[in-house]
Amino acid sequence: MTELLNIENISVHFPSPGGRVVRAVQDVSLSIAEGETLALVGESGSGKSTLGYTVAGLQPPTSGTLRFEGVPLTSRTWPAARRKIQIVFQDPFGALDPRMPISSTIAEPLLIQRIGTSASRMARAEELVQQVGLPRDALNRYPHEFSGGQRQRIAIARALSPNPRLIVADEPLSALDVSIQSQVLNLMKEVQEKLGLSYLFISHDLAVVNHLVDRVAVLYLGRLVEVGPREALFGKPAHPYTEALLASVPRIGRKRARNAGAIKGEMPSPLNPPTGCVFHTRCPRAQPMCSEVVPVLEAVAGQGAHQAACHFKE
Ligand code: ADP
Ligand code: MG
Repeated sequence: MTELLNIENISVHFPSPGGRVVRAVQDVSLSIAEGETLALVGESGSGKSTLGYTVAGLQPPTSGTLRFEGVPLTSRTWPAARRKIQIVFQDPFGALDPRMPISSTIAEPLLIQRIGTSASRMARAEELVQQVGLPRDALNRYPHEFSGGQRQRIAIARALSPNPRLIVADEPLSALDVSIQSQVLNLMKEVQEKLGLSYLFISHDLAVVNHLVDRVAVLYLGRLVEVGPREALFGKPAHPYTEALLASVPRIGRKRARNAGAIKGEMPSPLNPPTGCVFHTRCPRAQPMCSEVVPVLEAVAGQGAHQAACHFKE
């Protein structure tokens, strides 16, 4: 498998009043192969969107390197890469400009990148509305005339317009009715197969993740705690946080639900993350060393691709 994106020791910190620092993403390393779907999961506030925005070039990292097609992304190399990394947001109502007809919305990334002529951009928009399953007359209409699911199709068409290789999808289904979710999910699968796209698929819904993705990365309080192939990670989670997340999803976690209860308490603040392992304050396996030593991400027994950061991984 050829690597498309490499996330190398990325941290994203935000300044906060009083000179304090929000550690939204802390020292995360991950990669995405060509044509692969990597899920990013974790509770709200774990840093998923921040990492997604960084990958999409919307949020500069505080430290670390992104490498795309083998090239480190810097202010010099981003302009050429930008077209190839697009994003779809959670809220299909907020993401589209209400004053802009659908044709212009879809063609806008091409206009921003100065790709093609106005005629070729319109032709591309016409091709895309069909590809995402919208009626052809959608082109001259406005966002308010469409349902949530249709708007998410428009957002997908817009993301596809400059022919990207990677799409960051930040909770793309969670604002949609359950009945619509599978239709949009199927569309994402279909265009992926046709175009050989990679996805960074951000979701807190593990049942959805189970249907789409190749690999799963689990974030907790900005840290990558476990990563691995979907079947390995869902079938035999090595990190107690992953185990607890899965236990809350009946269809996937049923077998484990009895011995791994819900996670205790609230997630601590990223302004003041726990020392040592960030999960130790809520962890059923915690020992004294867990509050002192940050666990490194290591292969789970005998499995190179499945890794977890836990002193007492299973
Ligand atoms: P998730 O998408 O997993 O819910 P986010 O990436 O949105 O998590 O947020 C991670 C943490 O970073 C949260 O504590 C959030 O409040 C904080 N955060 C995100 N964006 C900013 C920002 N622009 N300024 C300050 N704090 C932020
Ligand atoms: Mg988010």
